[in-house]
Amino acid sequence: MSFTVAIDGPAASGKGTIGRAVARHFGFAHLDTGLLYRAVARQVLEGADPVAAARALTAADLEAGNLRNAEVAQAASRVAAIPEVRAALLDFQRAFARRAGGAVLDGRDIGTVICPDADVKLYVTASDAVRAERRLKERLARGETVSHDEVLEDLRARDARDSARATAPLKPAEDAVMLDTTGLGIDEAVARAVAVIEERRKGG
Ligand code: C5P
Repeated sequence: MSFTVAIDGPAASGKGTIGRAVARHFGFAHLDTGLLYRAVARQVLEGADPVAAARALTAADLEAGNLRNAEVAQAASRVAAIPEVRAALLDFQRAFARRAGGAVLDGRDIGTVICPDADVKLYVTASDAVRAERRLKERLARGETVSHDEVLEDLRARDARDSARATAPLKPAEDAVMLDTTGLGIDEAVARAVAVIEERRKGG
């Protein structure tokens, strides 16, 4: 039987961490849908046509190195605004969501466009300052030289582009449960997400 958990939210809100943890908790498969757009973007930075790259994307492309860097992230939000790129990635995401045994997908449009009938929809947020602090730590740990303000500007530019685009903009589904992780540690945020999912699984 399929059971779909849709998790959306802005960059560095904690949705990926929560998505991975709840998938592990329930034994569901997990798809970080941002990787699809990052993998397309990486090929575009190497000169590929965005729509052709999206149409030819394979699972192996998601394993490519360097998908996490800031240049790829900004390029991802640019290719993600192209309707034909989004259309090319739709079937893969929907098939993943319907797989037997349960699936968690995190992204920007999972509850609104990819899986409007998801069993559980979460919209994860956190203050700009907290999101920037989290992303700064990750980037410093990777050995990058970057300031808090640069990271904050990067996140805001990406969120603004993701929220303003005409096709599948970043926004909560009307029936999403809001989860603000600003004052929460990882364990607490995961526990709250698990509780929402447990409740739905019991038919609540
Ligand atoms: O989640 P992540 O930061 O890896 O996403 C990279 C970019 O991919 C986002 O800024 C957004 O533009 C795009 N994206 C999207 N829809 C999704 C997931 C990611 O448009 N479902």
